[in-house]
Amino acid sequence: MITTATRIDVKKVTKSRLSELDMKNLTFGRVFSDHMFVADFANGQWDEARIVPYDKMPMSPSTSALHYGQTIFEGLKAYKNDKGEVLVSRPWANHKRLNISCERMAMPIVPEELFMESLSMLVKLDKDWVPSVPNSSLYIRPFMFSTDEYIGVKPSETYRFIIFTAPVGAYYTAPIRVLVETNYIRAVEGGIGYVKAAGNYGRSLFPTQLAQQRGYQQIIWTDARNHRFIEESGTMNVMFVIDDILITPPLGDTILAGITRDSVLTLARDWGYRVQERKISIDEVVDAHKKGTLQEAFGAGTAATIAHIAAIGFEGRDYELPPVEERIFSNRVSRELDDIRRGKIADRHSWMLKV
Ligand SMILES: *Cc1c(COP(=O)(O)O)cnc(C)c1O
Repeated sequence: MITTATRIDVKKVTKSRLSELDMKNLTFGRVFSDHMFVADFANGQWDEARIVPYDKMPMSPSTSALHYGQTIFEGLKAYKNDKGEVLVSRPWANHKRLNISCERMAMPIVPEELFMESLSMLVKLDKDWVPSVPNSSLYIRPFMFSTDEYIGVKPSETYRFIIFTAPVGAYYTAPIRVLVETNYIRAVEGGIGYVKAAGNYGRSLFPTQLAQQRGYQQIIWTDARNHRFIEESGTMNVMFVIDDILITPPLGDTILAGITRDSVLTLARDWGYRVQERKISIDEVVDAHKKGTLQEAFGAGTAATIAHIAAIGFEGRDYELPPVEERIFSNRVSRELDDIRRGKIADRHSWMLKV
């Protein structure tokens, strides 16, 4: 097992690609920083930890991950403060969640030291790729997949763990319109909804495509049994402010335990907001809209941070929400999170790792 940073071999690029990057016009997810971290698991242990130039990897067509989907990922972000120092948001939480995913998918866990050392080294090496422009950040993508060249169905004996990074701009540039999905489902009890597994995304693409053809950007997933209770919005946790109470569905095996969700709830509680983690049905949301008590709705996740919901489509009607300027809670929490991440205000919960 790798226990210290000194055992991570580093092979640097001969020429950085940074000069090709337009920091002022960043999009999301197509440009990657110079280096990546790679480690391979074989014979019951992680080995050959290395940082190498970001590049393509040769792969056998029989690589098991491509067939049976033993593949999981994480997503987190790094920011720059005014002094140009780099701060990573809540990496310890991502490490814990990665290992929860590993367990459910019969994959080997990644020791905390290996995760933290490799992530810190990589981000430090490519620190010039961390944008300092507003709304932009360095997205960090740790992921793991099975590598046995074998098409029998069983857990692989070998795996690869990689971390690469990407300078990114805003995920959504405007408030989103969401469609309540009452036919397809994202997760079932006993399934892998709480796991950050590739398969959860693969299955969501077709229903999302149908919603997009109807003019919505995302889906609001409902429970598999009755299609009544709200679960998540696309790949984000979802929250509502009704009558000055912040309401979000409770965690369970059909809901991904978002770290942004946790940060939002923590700040809300710090501020003395009334917070409820409980089941919320689409009927309750529609009722609140009719009564005029539905003040805010938003998605919460690393990629978008806070994605304001402009309208909710349900049974042929669009329920329009109040203008974003009037949304007191989500604007405040969005600003506060940004200020903590960019080191502008105190990090009272010790969320940030300086690399
Ligand atoms: C990643 C993810 C989220 C958000 O989690 P964060 O830790 O806040 O980024 C929410 N729902 C799903 C399904 C996800 O995959």
